[in-house]
Amino acid sequence: MISVVLPVYNEAESLSLFVAQLRDVLVEIGEPYEIVLVNDGSKDHSFKVILDICESDPNSKFVNLSRNFGHQIAISAGVDFASGDAIVLMDSDGQDPPAEIKNLYKKLKEGYDVVYAKRISRGKEGFIKKWTAKIFYNTMDRITSIPIPMDVGDFRILTKKVVEALRKMPEKQRYLRGQIAWLGFKQTYIEYHREDRTTGDTKYTYRKMIRLALDGITSFSNWPLRLATISGFVCAFIGFLLILYTLYSRYVLQDYEPGWASLMITLVFIGGIQLIGIGIIGEYIGRINENVKNRPLYVVDETNIERAQN
Ligand code: UDP
Ligand code: MG
Repeated sequence: MISVVLPVYNEAESLSLFVAQLRDVLVEIGEPYEIVLVNDGSKDHSFKVILDICESDPNSKFVNLSRNFGHQIAISAGVDFASGDAIVLMDSDGQDPPAEIKNLYKKLKEGYDVVYAKRISRGKEGFIKKWTAKIFYNTMDRITSIPIPMDVGDFRILTKKVVEALRKMPEKQRYLRGQIAWLGFKQTYIEYHREDRTTGDTKYTYRKMIRLALDGITSFSNWPLRLATISGFVCAFIGFLLILYTLYSRYVLQDYEPGWASLMITLVFIGGIQLIGIGIIGEYIGRINENVKNRPLYVVDETNIERAQN
């Protein structure tokens, strides 16, 4: 059976049309299927639309989260409730074309465990979105030790094996494309053209985007921590040279002034560096704290799915 996990946040306008298209593709593939619609605390009538969809199609199921938990957590919830042998993750806004599922599935059948869809074009997305995404993926590639594929979102197909491993990852900062890369198994990709959104605007506000970027970086790289250490060493070294010079000019050259300016500059500089260091450490401690609390990742309000194993 193929499960398709769809996170839904304020997509009421285009959702039923999208699910209809998706269903056509799944029927064409000819395997049994289920569609798991995760309502991520939508503020419009998306949930009503989801209920209508589920009523008209016994293969569609819903998970209604108690509030907006964010895209990555919504997908994680869907993955927990999906019971297929192959699980497709995709956006519900029409940007990931359902027709590509055929290609993903075909590739999976060749014996892969993860087939992700690589964007060779990104539709009419804004200049800033494309540009920030590019910078982010490049930086990630440079500072992480596991290769996380570039220009790849969450659109992909996974075997049950991978999904079971994924469910065992308890971290609260979800960065699924990183986590799945970390898991390993046999991975490959297909290429596709990302479509435009059918209606509405991106639900990824800048705040959510920055959050995702920070979660990705801190979950898969200790490089920022190392940066704090390195800059600390560099400062200490410059300070040491400065001390030597001061002593030299004081005792050898006998040339010295009460150095108000240099003192202030040094103080401010060191102070700045320390604050940066503390800030970076704070980022990590915040996340440690988050994990220590060990709260459930999400809370389900209601669902018509019997909970999958583990
Ligand atoms: N989404 C979600 N919760 C959120 C934000 C987005 O479930 O807090 C869903 C949204 O409905 C869509 C998918 O995640 O199906 C991708 O979001 P969006 O299209 O806004 O992101 P973009 O394609 O602009 O990166
Ligand atoms: Mg989108």
